[in-house]
Amino acid sequence: MTLFSLIFTTLIFSAISLTLVPEWGVLGALLVGTWLGCLTCLFLQWRSHQKFMRWLRSPSEDTEGVTSQPWREVSERILRLRRDHKQQIQASDDRIHHFFEAIQASPNGVVLLDEQGRIEWCNLMGAEHWSIDLHRDHQQLIGNLLRDPQFLKLIQSNASEPVIMQARGSALNSRRRISVQKFAYGAGRVLLLSTDVTQIELAESMRQQFVANVSHEIRTPLTVILGLIESLRNLPLSQEEKNKYLLMLQEHASRMNLLVTDLLTLSKLEGTPIPTPKEQFDLKAMLQEAMSLANSLTQSQFSQNPHSIQFEWAWPAESALFWGNRSEMLSAVTNLLNNAIRYSTPGTAIRLSVHAMPEDLVGIAVMDQGVGIPPEHIPRLSERFYRVDSSRSRESGGTGLGLAIVKHIVQRHEGQLVITSQFGVGSCFTLCFSKSRLVNSTNEQPSKG
Ligand code: ADP
Repeated sequence: MTLFSLIFTTLIFSAISLTLVPEWGVLGALLVGTWLGCLTCLFLQWRSHQKFMRWLRSPSEDTEGVTSQPWREVSERILRLRRDHKQQIQASDDRIHHFFEAIQASPNGVVLLDEQGRIEWCNLMGAEHWSIDLHRDHQQLIGNLLRDPQFLKLIQSNASEPVIMQARGSALNSRRRISVQKFAYGAGRVLLLSTDVTQIELAESMRQQFVANVSHEIRTPLTVILGLIESLRNLPLSQEEKNKYLLMLQEHASRMNLLVTDLLTLSKLEGTPIPTPKEQFDLKAMLQEAMSLANSLTQSQFSQNPHSIQFEWAWPAESALFWGNRSEMLSAVTNLLNNAIRYSTPGTAIRLSVHAMPEDLVGIAVMDQGVGIPPEHIPRLSERFYRVDSSRSRESGGTGLGLAIVKHIVQRHEGQLVITSQFGVGSCFTLCFSKSRLVNSTNEQPSKG
């Protein structure tokens, strides 16, 4: 209500009063007019205020109902403030949402406990590690869910050192080991952080096993070498005996050398990047080279009765390029051929072949008519230092690392080592790769299946 309205109503009422009661005179009419004008303005103000209050009870974007000027301005300002406030709430909601999403995406488990140790919230990984169902276990005391004494000690103490324990619940968790750490925050609240350490523990135990195996493998020839040196130094030996001892020394030193070479090969395979598809080589030529190396080996070892090594190229194209690393693949095939020679009787046949396999695979197979392998050993053959017959392996110069190297090489070429064997009849070691690794050198296309 403006001053203008007040003057306007005052004048109107004064004029009406002067017309109706002329004897009041101008001054009287003005007094009555002013009084009535003020009353009218007050009434109009009261009505506008009522309307504004009605609008304020449930403010809508529509301020049409709020007619009078100052109240409309107030209502518009309120609306603007409300919009700003809503935007701030939305931004803060978004921040909290992103924060929770980040904790959900964490590979670590997070469980939040209140002052009494009751579960307030946990992320997906936390739920998995502790087998928590947030709907069911919300507000449950964590000590009631987990009775592991180590864990209870951690919860009750002020220590924040991690505790390693078994994950809780499901069959999946039966072999899962988690490291749990406790962090205090807020007023007496606790954050439990759990990390899956199953693989780390496994790797650590494998590392210890590996070091123990290597030490054992090296210690055996080393003890023999030291004994031989001692004898050579202290015993009155004939030249013939000395030569015999020197030959034995050479044998054991060579064994150690072979072991170190294989260990270095393995470590090199682990440390070098996977061959890129840009690396290509002529598969047939590489296999023929491996075959001639194997022929030389059997002829040098069993000159009277060497193995008969056959080569079968059962592939539709005359020759083919293989996507992969030539020296690694040569080493894998040579390892298989050497094993075939070492674990079969001299004079028997060994066949190296390339053939198409079902499911768009190509197989490079080495088949022998050797001692064969009992079925229970087959799944473990490619483990480092795993041997079926340790003395035969050592006598024939085996390091126990050959098949581990082969498996590593095949996996680096996205392939698989498949072993089939019949005890006393023979074995077949096949390197299986996707056909897409082979590019035919002629126009012929590889057949399917
Ligand atoms: P090694 O150096 O002892 O031969 P490998 O890793 O090459 O080590 O092989 C692991 C074991 O697998 C061997 O000790 C042997 O018992 C068995 N093996 C490998 N190849 C053959 C084969 N062609 N015939 C029979 N047994 C084999």
